[in-house]
Amino acid sequence: MVETEKLLYRLETLCPVCGRKFPVWKVRKSALPVEGRDADFYVRYEGGFDPSFYSVWVCAYCGYAAGDPGFAEVSQAERKLLGDALKGHPVPDVAGERDFIKALAAYDQAIFCTQARRGRAGALASLYLKTAWAHRARGDQGEREYLEKALDAYRTAFQTESEGRMSPLMMAYLIGELSRRIGNYKDAVQYFSMVIKDGTDKDQNIINLAREQWRLSRDEAQQAGAGQPAAPAPAAGSAATEAAAALQTAAPPPASAAEPTPPSPPAGVAPPKVRPAVRKPIHMGVFLYSDQVQWVKEVATVAGLALDPSVVIRALVELAQDIPPEQLSAAGEEELAQLILKSLKGG
Ligand SMILES: [Zn+2]
Repeated sequence: MVETEKLLYRLETLCPVCGRKFPVWKVRKSALPVEGRDADFYVRYEGGFDPSFYSVWVCAYCGYAAGDPGFAEVSQAERKLLGDALKGHPVPDVAGERDFIKALAAYDQAIFCTQARRGRAGALASLYLKTAWAHRARGDQGEREYLEKALDAYRTAFQTESEGRMSPLMMAYLIGELSRRIGNYKDAVQYFSMVIKDGTDKDQNIINLAREQWRLSRDEAQQAGAGQPAAPAPAAGSAATEAAAALQTAAPPPASAAEPTPPSPPAGVAPPKVRPAVRKPIHMGVFLYSDQVQWVKEVATVAGLALDPSVVIRALVELAQDIPPEQLSAAGEEELAQLILKSLKGG
């Protein structure tokens, strides 16, 4: 058996919400021998000790809870939201050594706080996934519910959040793996193919993992009799072409002729372009005026858009994205704004 008290060490930390000092426990992971790794990044350690149980810190006074690292990152607006939500909310006692029950209480509290502060979907997803792992280690039935919640939250993060602790490629892989684990082989194959296709030389490890899980998904789909068409597994030499073929086999069937055709748009208005179901965010630095940055942040906060200002900017672009670029030939910013406004009004 692992001697838990030797693995843990205590330190004092400052709560960014109530400003008081409270004790937290950290794990000396280097002292832990790894027993095995699951394809969704769950690491099993010898002796059954789970260091993820200590990955969430909970303030013993106000109950603010979040993952470490990132615990101290609380904005003014979030502090207000958390202060309101935590008033009258019971504070779980998760101090010291944590068993399954205490770990779950800590995760629950962090999930509550992340929702209250309208935090990132990626942060929520990670908490759901850790809850699923805790259930897996015990071999109980609770795992699936939390895998599904994690998957939903990772999908939201993948489509709407450009900033986070996980790269888009890693997240696409994880969405594939969680889809496979709940038996959605079509999505699994699609996301693994995306990783194989979009990964670069430096992503070789995750690409190899995606290839393995791609094959596993296909085999499991066939065993389950889900009617997945067999396709060649993406080979090492021609990943892009093979992955494209895989994607095709995973694509939904074409619309049947019996389906009603969508109504035609009025003359002179271009029909909206069909956008891909999964859109990969790309980081692009842009300069905005300070008043615009302020406005974008306020909208993000008021609307509770996971406090990600990028969502607001993307929504604005989305609105104008169907205007043919040739209609927007302008000499400057103001003229361009007028042309966009005119087009949106249908003029
Ligand atoms: Zn506190």
